[in-house]
Amino acid sequence: MKIPFNRPYITGLEKTYVNEVLESRKLSGNRDFTGKCHAHFEKQAGFKKVLLTSSCTDALEMSALLLDIQPGDEVIMPSYTFVSTANSFALRGAVPVFADSSTLNPNIDPSEIERLVNPKTKAILIVHYAGIACDMDRIMKIADDNNLPVVEDAAQSIGSFYKGRPLGTIGTFGTFSFHETKNVTSGEGGLLIINDPAYNQKAEYAWEKGTNRLEFHRKETDKYNWVSLGSSYLMSELNAALLYAQLEQFEQIQTLRKEAWNLYYQDLKHLQEESLIQLPNIPDYATNNAHIFYLVCRTGNERDRLLKHLQNNGILAVFHYLALHESPYFKPNYKGTDLKNAIMYTSNLVRLPLFAGLTKNEIEQVTKSIREFFHNERIYDQEKTDSKKPSAG
Ligand SMILES: *Cc1c(COP(=O)(O)O)cnc(C)c1O
Repeated sequence: MKIPFNRPYITGLEKTYVNEVLESRKLSGNRDFTGKCHAHFEKQAGFKKVLLTSSCTDALEMSALLLDIQPGDEVIMPSYTFVSTANSFALRGAVPVFADSSTLNPNIDPSEIERLVNPKTKAILIVHYAGIACDMDRIMKIADDNNLPVVEDAAQSIGSFYKGRPLGTIGTFGTFSFHETKNVTSGEGGLLIINDPAYNQKAEYAWEKGTNRLEFHRKETDKYNWVSLGSSYLMSELNAALLYAQLEQFEQIQTLRKEAWNLYYQDLKHLQEESLIQLPNIPDYATNNAHIFYLVCRTGNERDRLLKHLQNNGILAVFHYLALHESPYFKPNYKGTDLKNAIMYTSNLVRLPLFAGLTKNEIEQVTKSIREFFHNERIYDQEKTDSKKPSAG
């Protein structure tokens, strides 16, 4: 039996809604389903203002554009993140200034932001890894003291909170992803969350290719024109229809994912007690949206052998980010210090299969295989210790 890493969950309503769009013959962006998705986030979830985009990468690019990032501007961000976090700002000429992760979990270490902030810094970009909140009070305090905007790359964070506040609603902007691998999907898709109303108008212009088309549609102006820089960031109605079906089933999706996540935790926590692995650390201020179940091995070598062992047992577990300060594109220009934790997570972290619909039986197969692996590691550790002891006689 093969256990995939991810299997997108289809609730059943997707086909009905996508068909409605096809029947309507209105396939481009910002029609009924976009409106329904916007209302879901603004009315139900209470976000101030949102715009559906064709990816989280797009929403991040919009943030960089709206913040008027200029060539040479420094933007502090974690090294242990997806390439889009950096790329979206680098496209506008920003210099990514990479910060290390915490030892607690892969999130940015706030003391790293304090170390790196300087007069050239124009923004702070943070990532809530695995949907587990960063230490936002500390981060917002540093940002406020230095008068800097914060962008939350909340790509993985739908349904997760920091001290009761939804992730993505704390910084100036937040971004979600609805990529196939995320909790809720439209195939490809994203969301820009605008928390500072001063950017609302500019964001609408940027979203619609730099025009005031939305104002024209609301009959606030009698023609629309090129009014700013922008691009085509809208999500198609076909994707919005798919997304809306998933949003309607959000609670059900989350229940299934959390059940799977908790089963993993129960079955593996004794390995953490033995210090063989480190399991996700969820601080008191954070919640868990069961986006990723990860574990951190003691060494890169052990991690690689664990992945191979699982693969040999028909289980697709995977590593995650490769620290960006060490990437082929950026490394030649990197002048900072070693980022020890970013490198440690690059080499030691494993993500286990996790999706809504993963069965109890499949989870038990995964955890059994992991226990088997560590059983052998323990014997190996013991042999190493024994061979170091002076032999009797
Ligand atoms: C998935 C992800 C992205 C990119 O999302 P897309 O919708 O594929 O553009 C960006 N940042 C993080 C942290 C992600 O996990």
